[in-house]
Amino acid sequence: MTDETEADLTGVPPRRRPKLPVDTVGGRRLKPATLMMGHGYDPVLSEGSLKPPIFATSTYVFPNAAAGKRHFEGVTGKRPGGAEGLVYSRFNGPNQEILEDRLGVWEAAEDALVFSSGMSAIATLFLSMVQPGDTIIHSGPLYAATETLIGRVLGRFGVDYLDFPAGATQDEIEAVLRKAEGRVPLIYLESPANPTNALVDIEAVAAARDAVFGDTVEKPPIAIDNTFLGPLWQQPLQHGADLVVYSLTKYAGGHSDLVAGGVLGSKAHINTIRSMRNTIGTICDPNTAWMLLRSLETLELRMSRAGENAAKVCAFLKDHPKVERVGYLGFLKDDRQADIYRRHCTGGGSTFSLYLKGGEREAFAFLDALTIAKLAVSLGGTETLASHPAGMTHLSVPDARKVALGITDNLVRISIGVEDADDLIADFEQALAAI
Ligand SMILES: *Cc1c(COP(=O)(O)O)cnc(C)c1O
Repeated sequence: MTDETEADLTGVPPRRRPKLPVDTVGGRRLKPATLMMGHGYDPVLSEGSLKPPIFATSTYVFPNAAAGKRHFEGVTGKRPGGAEGLVYSRFNGPNQEILEDRLGVWEAAEDALVFSSGMSAIATLFLSMVQPGDTIIHSGPLYAATETLIGRVLGRFGVDYLDFPAGATQDEIEAVLRKAEGRVPLIYLESPANPTNALVDIEAVAAARDAVFGDTVEKPPIAIDNTFLGPLWQQPLQHGADLVVYSLTKYAGGHSDLVAGGVLGSKAHINTIRSMRNTIGTICDPNTAWMLLRSLETLELRMSRAGENAAKVCAFLKDHPKVERVGYLGFLKDDRQADIYRRHCTGGGSTFSLYLKGGEREAFAFLDALTIAKLAVSLGGTETLASHPAGMTHLSVPDARKVALGITDNLVRISIGVEDADDLIADFEQALAAI
């Protein structure tokens, strides 16, 4: 498997040769769904194994002392061009590198990084960019743990924040940016927001950022948590975002059997975040990376089917006499939100809010009567899940904030899977009858 000649000539450890350019055929650019089966992996390097083996190792062997020195010259910047090859598994590994290459393909990102969880991806992003005295600007609401990280954890290190509501206009966003007293290290978005499903106007955020900062060195990057719609139904890099953040636990993993995270974007931003990941070791493990490679092969199939199922289920629920309202992106009534949807999204996703007529009693009766849908938090898996935010994920949120976020006792959150749509409708129908 080793190629001594190549190692001698280049000094690069021979474990991974340059990747083969297999992303076009006859001048035709291959689609992500096709590239997921082979991109970034050469079977020749692994005894002809069709699938990448799981590289269970903590460290990598240098062919000779000079190659080791050459590597560290690259790491430390003593030699331009950076470090190539693999050295130690806190930094990277073949499974994670292939996964990063394939993840980037979906959004034509220059580079990508994978992490041990969505939250470790978000935390590593923040740690790589903020310093005491900074003011993070973010859209609201955010995933609860992200709000905790910004407000309570980074707050302890002298980092402040200001937020604007998800649907804000360019003028409103500009006003918030001008209020920031410290340096603004980054603008952080989440769209659609959890649990309101409110969309953020990424183009308006980019226009506001450019109006306030121009082309100065202080111009902060825009990062966005795209977990709910990406990469199939929303591609923020095309609308002015610089970095896209994922909980790969959700649609990308897609089988509710792993926890992982990702960040995609330009090489320059990714390298800043990579240095922090190298330092603190928030990379995902090889086994999880391997599972995600398998998941990405069916990503488009799974997400397409789940999206179609959700459209059918929501069409059924919408006019049901026991349903007050369905908060699904396919049914937007608000003009501003519908306009953002038209510009940014290619599908409504499969996660939505169901408001039943009544309160907690009715919601619990409905949840307890479901048979196909399982009662669990999380989303984006092959199976349909249902939960009660007011009594579960958002139990500790103060009442006034719950009202502002629309987290009422009659709200049920649903993530539709890839089951048969008519079976799902039959399940919802009998559960509504049981209320
Ligand atoms: C689940 C989730 C996260 C956190 O991801 P983990 O993989 O659980 O760490 C962050 N943002 C959103 C929108 C999520 O749904």
